[in-house]
Amino acid sequence: MRDFSQDPRWLSINTATVRKSRGVDLPLPQIIEACAQRGIRAISPWRDQVAAAGLDTISKLVKAHGLELSGYCRGGMFPAADAKGLATARDDNRRAVDEACELNAKCLVLVVGGLPGALAGKAAHKDIALSRSQVRDGIAELLDYSRTVRMPLAIEPLHPMYAADRACINTMEQALDVCDELDRERTGALGVAVDVYHVWWDVKLQAQIERAGQNRLLAFHVCDWLTPTTDLLNDRGMMGDGVIDIPRIRGWMETQGFAGYSEVEIFSAANWWQREHGEVLDTCIQRHRTVV
Ligand code: ZN
Repeated sequence: MRDFSQDPRWLSINTATVRKSRGVDLPLPQIIEACAQRGIRAISPWRDQVAAAGLDTISKLVKAHGLELSGYCRGGMFPAADAKGLATARDDNRRAVDEACELNAKCLVLVVGGLPGALAGKAAHKDIALSRSQVRDGIAELLDYSRTVRMPLAIEPLHPMYAADRACINTMEQALDVCDELDRERTGALGVAVDVYHVWWDVKLQAQIERAGQNRLLAFHVCDWLTPTTDLLNDRGMMGDGVIDIPRIRGWMETQGFAGYSEVEIFSAANWWQREHGEVLDTCIQRHRTVV
């Protein structure tokens, strides 16, 4: 297993981690500058942050600082209540692929969606099997496009508590079943993003990481699971502050040959987003050396 204690070479910052500084929105160009100043070599930005600053601006900044993108967040949200909604999702996902290409991201991360309307508080139906089939079809269609521009798609299984509103793919096993079906030849065009927050509890995690193999392990996201967790979305912990054995999971990944970034992804409305972003980044660097 790689030794992270000496340098932060394999640390990536998912820019949602410092989306706010002292509770105030922090623009992506400032996030990039703060990362570059600290010698952080990679980021994974969110589409809304990129759109707010302008794709062109961000593309130039990324190149100027020689930053890599461990991923691009995010595509997905495939299910819809009608044909028009499905088409809208399809078109938006193609744009996400194009943006990921412009920024030279390692992969486009897919949060696949759940029951249509649920995120806004009113699900259009209760048929999660229908959502899952729309997700499968949506990924298949997007894959036809993403292959042509050589942008890998990384399905991110989300913790089951998000099955209704964010993602009806909830385990590595489910995600890999989709990979097997749509990319049987293991071309590298389709794989998974392993986020410890979502999958740490899974009894089959080690076996499924082995099943994925290097070819399908496209991204590794880290944070921690706090006890108690006070908010289903925005109470993620800093690595080392919770109950996830991150080095053990990273070891399983690296045994398969994964040699990419450990991407810190923390949504923390009451704690880390209330702190000054420089302090947050410095803490990420320190924890990356010691507990990742
Ligand atoms: Zn993640």
